[in-house]
Amino acid sequence: MAKDIILLGAPGAGKGTQGALLAEALGLPKIATGDILREAVRQGTELGREAKRFMDAGELVPDDVILGLVRLALALPNAAQGAIFDGFPRTAAQAEAVDRIQAELGRRLSAVILFEVPDEVIVDRMTGRRTDPESGAVYHIRYNPPPPAVRERVIQRADDTEETVRRRLVVYREMTKPLIARYRSAAVPIHRVDGTGDIEAVHAAIMEQVTG
Ligand code: AMP
Repeated sequence: MAKDIILLGAPGAGKGTQGALLAEALGLPKIATGDILREAVRQGTELGREAKRFMDAGELVPDDVILGLVRLALALPNAAQGAIFDGFPRTAAQAEAVDRIQAELGRRLSAVILFEVPDEVIVDRMTGRRTDPESGAVYHIRYNPPPPAVRERVIQRADDTEETVRRRLVVYREMTKPLIARYRSAAVPIHRVDGTGDIEAVHAAIMEQVTG
């Protein structure tokens, strides 16, 4: 049976970076709804156009849109053994639907990893975040600077301005944080991870929790 892992935590807590390392270590795909939406925006599809106004404002994209994407991604052959969920579920309705989709597809949740990072660290991280549009690699202007060959072409996400980041933190607190209680009462281990350490230290802590 496919076993899935949910990465839960505020935007900028490190889910994307750590999810990629964890996916690689476990040989599972990472499914990131934010990445799927950004790709749709880049390609200018109808989905992208609809999603962009929510994303740029720091608001959540409607649940039915997200759940359609999740359903498609989980049906792909590469997710047959399990997957790392990055950025979903983000609302109670999404969590309920993800439960249902997993049951339908013969999957189950094996763990939830909860990233703990103070708001001020998050604002600092996100406003300094830059992405290489060619490779998708994520850097930080101070903590993980892009190499010289890439430095000229990195871009800032439209939703990584301070104002939008603060709105996204409010949305996280209101809509997503309550999911912690939901998973705490479910029969699934929740691993709390201090997400303030450097990338390697946080990865090591996650691996110890997941495989230990
Ligand atoms: P992320 O890259 O996960 O920070 O997502 C970027 C933006 O995409 C979010 O601020 C939302 O506007 C949208 N988004 C991504 N995942 C979801 C989701 N599960 N539910 C609603 N909106 C989402």
